[in-house]
Amino acid sequence: MSTRQVDVLVVGGGQAGLAVGYYLRRAGYRPEDQYVLLDAADRPGGAWARMWPSLRAFSPPEYSSLPGWRMPAWGGDPGFPPAAHVRDYLTAYERRYELPVHRPVRVRTVRRENDDPAGPLRVSTTDGDYLAGVVVSCTGTWSRPFVPTYPGQGDFAGRQLHAAEYTGPQEYAGGRVVVVGGGNSAAQVLAEVSAVASTTWVTQRPPKFLPDDVDGRALFMVATARRRALESGGTDTGGVAALGDIVMVPVVREARERGALRAEPMFERVTRDGVAWADGREQAADAIIWCTGFRPELRHLAPLGLRYADGHLAVLGTQAVDEPRLHLVGYGDWTGPASATLIGVGRTARDLVASL
Ligand code: FAD
Repeated sequence: MSTRQVDVLVVGGGQAGLAVGYYLRRAGYRPEDQYVLLDAADRPGGAWARMWPSLRAFSPPEYSSLPGWRMPAWGGDPGFPPAAHVRDYLTAYERRYELPVHRPVRVRTVRRENDDPAGPLRVSTTDGDYLAGVVVSCTGTWSRPFVPTYPGQGDFAGRQLHAAEYTGPQEYAGGRVVVVGGGNSAAQVLAEVSAVASTTWVTQRPPKFLPDDVDGRALFMVATARRRALESGGTDTGGVAALGDIVMVPVVREARERGALRAEPMFERVTRDGVAWADGREQAADAIIWCTGFRPELRHLAPLGLRYADGHLAVLGTQAVDEPRLHLVGYGDWTGPASATLIGVGRTARDLVASL
């Protein structure tokens, strides 16, 4: 297959890729020869098409929208849409703006062509090669679930899974389940599993719950205030982390009412039958659900040999410090304030396209 040329190649067709696509289209880029999106998944929606069905977004639709078109209202209880609603919105968004997404096409590698610093980057995919003037990587984190290592983990006789493999509480009914992690995934998984099973919740630090009336929209406003403060040379407000972590969506509130949100400190090791703490206490378990986060999916960028700083790839805005033809969007705050959220990624995408 011959090598195709394109001005801007976006890797990934989740919310971040679509937001970049929206601004490229708006700036007049022609689909296919001037911009294209390649997505490894066989269906639209990015991570939202893979999350467990009962997962709820942490903001109502009007604060969970990509640029240009607001997410349709969700008719259910107080407005936190389920994952399928977000997936359907992203599917319709892609169609509405006729974004040139090719799938399933996995980008295997991005590399420099003949070490020419001014030429295009060579992008090798499962559907042939491209030469791209600019590559925007929007590959998210869902395909890199992270599980920390604890002694004895391999000996556990029960089931261990990461939240990325969790599909719902029913299979744990009547059992004993250890839920690990102090974030929103852990809280939501714990909340629903504790309704049907005996649960133990372990966290590295005591969990921090947001006030009941604070949801993703307030988090976004706090992130915005922090960005403004930092940009104008003011004091760091501490941003979202200063407020707390866990959004009190209805299922989590209901679990609190049942007294199910009590967290224990982290165990020291995993045993054949469960987990054990340093003081000798043990808890038997049939399953351990690791809600311990994700890492950025950056394996396709390995041939570029890029530098890391502060625990993430070194960037200036969205641009890789070591490779100006590469931008990164999504992933986390390090690519832009709230850039890993539906409401926040639009601003990052807009600034990036303006800079091209
Ligand atoms: P993704 O949605 O993961 O999309 C990346 C796409 O890139 C995928 O389709 C993938 O197949 C593709 N891809 C990966 N590698 C390659 C490759 N090499 N070549 C080609 N394609 C590739 N955010 C909110 O705004 N509100 C919420 O309520 C919310 N709740 C969340 C709850 C949980 C449990 C989690 C884990 C996250 C939540 N988030 C929420 C965050 C948000 O879902 C993610 O940050 C978001 O999905 C990231 O979007 P993305 O486009 O960067 O990545």
